[in-house]
Amino acid sequence: MRLYSTNNTSSFVSLSEAIMKGLPDDNGLFMPEYFPKLSEQFINNLKDYTFQEIAFEVTRTLFQGFIPENDLKKIINDSINFPAPIQSLDNQTHILELFHGPSLAFKDFGARFMAQIMSYFNRGNNKELVILVATSGDTGGAVASGFLKAKGIKVVILYPKGKVSMLQEKQLTTLGHNISALEVDGTFDDCQTLVKQAFLDKELNSQIRLTSANSINIARLIPQSFYYFEAFKQLNDYYNPITFVVPSGNYGNITAGLIAQKMGLPISHFIAASNANDIVPHYLCTGNYNPRPSIRTLSNAMDVGNPSNFARMQDLFGFTWNNMSKNISGYSFTDQETKRGIKDVFEQFNYVIDPHGAVGYLAFKAYQKNHPKTKGIILETAHPSKFKNSVEDVIKEKVNIPERLAVLANKKKESILMNTDFKPFKDWLIKNY
Ligand SMILES: *Cc1c(COP(=O)(O)O)cnc(C)c1O
Repeated sequence: MRLYSTNNTSSFVSLSEAIMKGLPDDNGLFMPEYFPKLSEQFINNLKDYTFQEIAFEVTRTLFQGFIPENDLKKIINDSINFPAPIQSLDNQTHILELFHGPSLAFKDFGARFMAQIMSYFNRGNNKELVILVATSGDTGGAVASGFLKAKGIKVVILYPKGKVSMLQEKQLTTLGHNISALEVDGTFDDCQTLVKQAFLDKELNSQIRLTSANSINIARLIPQSFYYFEAFKQLNDYYNPITFVVPSGNYGNITAGLIAQKMGLPISHFIAASNANDIVPHYLCTGNYNPRPSIRTLSNAMDVGNPSNFARMQDLFGFTWNNMSKNISGYSFTDQETKRGIKDVFEQFNYVIDPHGAVGYLAFKAYQKNHPKTKGIILETAHPSKFKNSVEDVIKEKVNIPERLAVLANKKKESILMNTDFKPFKDWLIKNY
């Protein structure tokens, strides 16, 4: 398996180089040279495979022997080790719950798989690998728990002081071992700037092996395709058109669905569901792509004004608007509408949905108006307790916090305070690694 950069399709790198580097030097994104088709036998008999066996078959087909099968099995068994069950609201409306991992959001799939595969490629290297991550909340928690105790790897998480929720902060600051949390007296952008400065600093890079766990690493994308197959399997309906509805921000999740489709899963259509940050739905309707600064909304993990995976989507559709807009419909909703969605799902189906899933639900209802026969699988990307206050405000009932999150409230926070200057951050890195 070889990969190219979306900015240069004629030069290739190996899988390990793409994963350990994260980003090509030319500012593009890594993409596999091509997507091999899975066998019809496999696609038509998904029900005979466990979730982990599905993940193995997809990865084995894509990697084409780059990692020996026994090693690959171990990587998958150690990362894809929680379920992705479907809850059916009615015959046509199905919710795919992606929040059963340690940090209660779908990002656990990508972060855990990336952690296992990076540790694998890093084995035998006696120089420690230091991963820097800037987080505005969710990514940090998934990455921290994914890399916890990974051999030969240290993780440094930078988060903006006072700007993440109490439980989010505890997810970053209570793990210990190889995870350190830097509490930066500034904004998320300041955290991101510090990380970027570190990657550009020659002296630092000559002393420490630095890399990022950025969301655009191809190792985070690939495992997100597994649950599209898993969802299809659970529905076990090869006769009706199946549409996947994906609440989207950076558009990694929907790109993973497109990969599943390319590899042979018979998905009939995609719906990109966004909040007021409607850059991609606007593009799908008009052909005009106008990135702009993000707006804060209730579904804040989708507050993205310049989606990083859009380049991969364009690449998949041969840079042709017509092809993309035939395969994906886009809808966007305001916060007012999102609250209405949470309320409707609760009142009609007695199901508590989070604000991101609610945006997906609304998009599916909108699409159904013109496509009444379609069955939809809506990706529920986070557990509602992660957005407890907004959900409780609407449904007027308490939302339960799962045990694995609730226990964090009593754990002791350990963080290192930093200002936004690069020098003390650099000195700290050199002293500690
Ligand atoms: C990250 C995130 C999204 C957006 O996913 P993308 O892959 O960036 O489109 C949606 N919902 C939740 C809860 C998230 O954490």
